[in-house]
Amino acid sequence: MRKLTLTAALCASTVLTAQALAQEDLRIVEEPLELTIHMHWPRAQGYDENYAVEKAAREMTGIHLKDATAGRNSTDSIEAMNLLLAMGDMPDIVAGHLIQQPVNQYGPEGAFLPLNDLVKEHAPHIQAFWDSHPGLQEAISSYDGNYYYIPYLPDGEFGRAWYIRQDWLDKLGLEQPQNVDEYYEVLKAFREQDPNGNGLKDEIPYFARQWEDVNRLLNLWDARSSGSDTYHDFYVNDEGKVVHPYAQEAYRVGLKNIAQWYKEGLIDPEIFTRGSSSRDYLLSEDLGGSTHDWFASTSGYNQALADKIEGFNFIPFLPPESAGGVRMEEHRRIPIKPDGWAISYSNEYPVETIKYFDFWFTEEGRLLANFGVEGETWDMVDGEPVYKPEVLNSDSPVNSQMYLVGAQIQRGFLQDYRYEWQWTSEPARKGIELYEANDLLIDQFLGVALNEEEQAVYDKYWPSLRTYMLERQQAWILGSGDVEAEWDDYVSTLNKMGYEDVIEVMNSAYSRQYAG
Ligand code: CA
Repeated sequence: MRKLTLTAALCASTVLTAQALAQEDLRIVEEPLELTIHMHWPRAQGYDENYAVEKAAREMTGIHLKDATAGRNSTDSIEAMNLLLAMGDMPDIVAGHLIQQPVNQYGPEGAFLPLNDLVKEHAPHIQAFWDSHPGLQEAISSYDGNYYYIPYLPDGEFGRAWYIRQDWLDKLGLEQPQNVDEYYEVLKAFREQDPNGNGLKDEIPYFARQWEDVNRLLNLWDARSSGSDTYHDFYVNDEGKVVHPYAQEAYRVGLKNIAQWYKEGLIDPEIFTRGSSSRDYLLSEDLGGSTHDWFASTSGYNQALADKIEGFNFIPFLPPESAGGVRMEEHRRIPIKPDGWAISYSNEYPVETIKYFDFWFTEEGRLLANFGVEGETWDMVDGEPVYKPEVLNSDSPVNSQMYLVGAQIQRGFLQDYRYEWQWTSEPARKGIELYEANDLLIDQFLGVALNEEEQAVYDKYWPSLRTYMLERQQAWILGSGDVEAEWDDYVSTLNKMGYEDVIEVMNSAYSRQYAG
């Protein structure tokens, strides 16, 4: 029968043959198979069975996903997950936002299937990804050495960059600052020399949409603000040990300088309170001079404000060299998200399910997961997936359009940076190329999976330690307190509060996880 079909197809057209073969390869089950799914994430609380992408995947694989999402009334994915676990009646697939911690905690207890062998035996495309990206499988593994979910894997490296009002520099006859001292002089000039030309000393030299990015200035004195794309995270130091940035000697020096800059009016006086609209407000009011923020969205202001502010030119510049002579960009995209999908213990079709997960790592599946359905949202042009003009020129952002058809949602898939590059503006592209050419990125701390005992130590001490660190940090920056004078007390308080115990469990987990 099969031979006959192929022969017939061969006679009809060679193109058809290729398609027929591809289709046959992707088919997982003869008879349609329904699998239930919990899919909870910020953009949608539930899985839409009418997604164009779902329908196409159904055609190709024979597997139908049926929505069985818990906690649809809440936008909090952790809450939804807790509800799901409490219900006991688990759907076949558990997917969405922040599933790494729960699957790593409850997987070893039997709630989710370990995927190591299933993938090795039935998911060659996923296995090929792990094999070509050493360290990542270890990073998502639980304390028992197994891994329990297939993550959403972002593509592209660069996230945030340093931005400056180039037109203000030009106006004041200044060059782009190349190091921390020059950056200080530039911010000082922004503050004192009225670059917006309204006769008022109203400029805000450094601002940040997320207040936490005031800590990015720490890098200028060779201290760290985080080890990952999560603020205030641990990092791995030069000796290969997990430490926290806010307990290091370099932090004392960095914070002293940030407090001084704040005192001199170089940092937004409302940095802690202005909130997420601060970038929008300070740029559109012609007040903000420099920040550290995402390439794509920050570069968008040149076009948005072109008619409003004459000569407005807010562009990425290279990170200023630190006091110790290091030029680096601390922020980057994380290679693995804690989002994705897992197979629950009650799933009666683990082999079919892992083959289905693998489908999304095939060329066809990956195009579908990234761009939507060929011919509907994109076309293949010279071997490249290219969005249709109506998608690129829509008032709605491309990512929002993708979410609506079921592409770029938080299933386990490998993102394709060509998806984003197509709608990244020219200034942002130039900035990314500048950063790329200067080799600025550093390794990220990808987290550890604590075992039960370690988790207990962490839960006992870490929340209050973190709160104390952030309290002192804010007080020191605002000038109510002096980091130099209080440093020894601070360090001994951290130790009394269990800092060393937390560091010990982090490191025992770290060496277990990354040793092999
Ligand atoms: Ca002014």
